[in-house]
Amino acid sequence: MLPTSINVIVRDWLNANHILFLGPEENVLVDAGYVTHADTTIRLVRERLGDRPLHRLVNTHCHSDHMGGNAAVQRAFGCPIWIPEGEAPLIETWDTRALWIDYAGQRAERFRFDAIVRPGDTLAMGGYDWKSIAAPGHDMGALMFWNEPERILVSGDALWQRGFGIVLPGEGWRERLAAARSTLETIRSLGPRIVIPGHGAPFTEIDASIDFCLGRITAFEADETKLARYILKVMLSFALMDVGSLEAATLADYLATIPLYREYDRTWFHLGYEELARQLFDDLARSGAIVKRDGRIFPAAA
Ligand SMILES: [Zn+2]
Repeated sequence: MLPTSINVIVRDWLNANHILFLGPEENVLVDAGYVTHADTTIRLVRERLGDRPLHRLVNTHCHSDHMGGNAAVQRAFGCPIWIPEGEAPLIETWDTRALWIDYAGQRAERFRFDAIVRPGDTLAMGGYDWKSIAAPGHDMGALMFWNEPERILVSGDALWQRGFGIVLPGEGWRERLAAARSTLETIRSLGPRIVIPGHGAPFTEIDASIDFCLGRITAFEADETKLARYILKVMLSFALMDVGSLEAATLADYLATIPLYREYDRTWFHLGYEELARQLFDDLARSGAIVKRDGRIFPAAA
């Protein structure tokens, strides 16, 4: 379904997929994964690259699961890093709140970028030309990459087979959800034959995926508090995948140390950390996202 020059390295949920384009003139990697898994990322890329050089690393957007390993990949392969124009101010100042790093209990290694990619730019990757398209919503500066002749879209977190990257509540939340909606409409109007997502395997049933996501957006638009609760569950699941496990009795203390939980409880829930911890634990255990063993909480994937 994909040209042989496009190698999709599908990862788990802490890491975004890596897409390695091996072209006649340039080898390009899209997205570098999470910082603590960078050794695996480098090994997977090196296996496919062989003796060839890596000419650049490009990010679809700058969240920790896509750029946390940028610095390590750059050290390993000596390649320049290109990031979306909209992310440049956040990376320059290393804005750990806007990048959802310390703010959300995530980690990433600081890096410097060498060039920016603007919406409308054309990138040569794997012997094909890719048009960069703005994909705001989950991340207002995100980009997608579109090859018209092959009708292939690299969607980042704008569209997965069953879902899309979370959109935060709070100031501007309606605009962010509207942007996510319009990005999905953009994808529909492109009419891709195949989507290479930031998470999960490439897929072809694109209309069904878009319809599913639009339904989620409609549900979130109706209830900001519901959206806020969903975000806390996603962020806690993600952080658990990062740390591996957490002593159940310390969950409330953990929540108290992370600004996101403090802020959301103050704004929407007014439960206090003990009760917030109890409810988040119950919700995640019920949905099967976490399990408790010997007094410790593990992500179900572990
Ligand atoms: Zn992601």
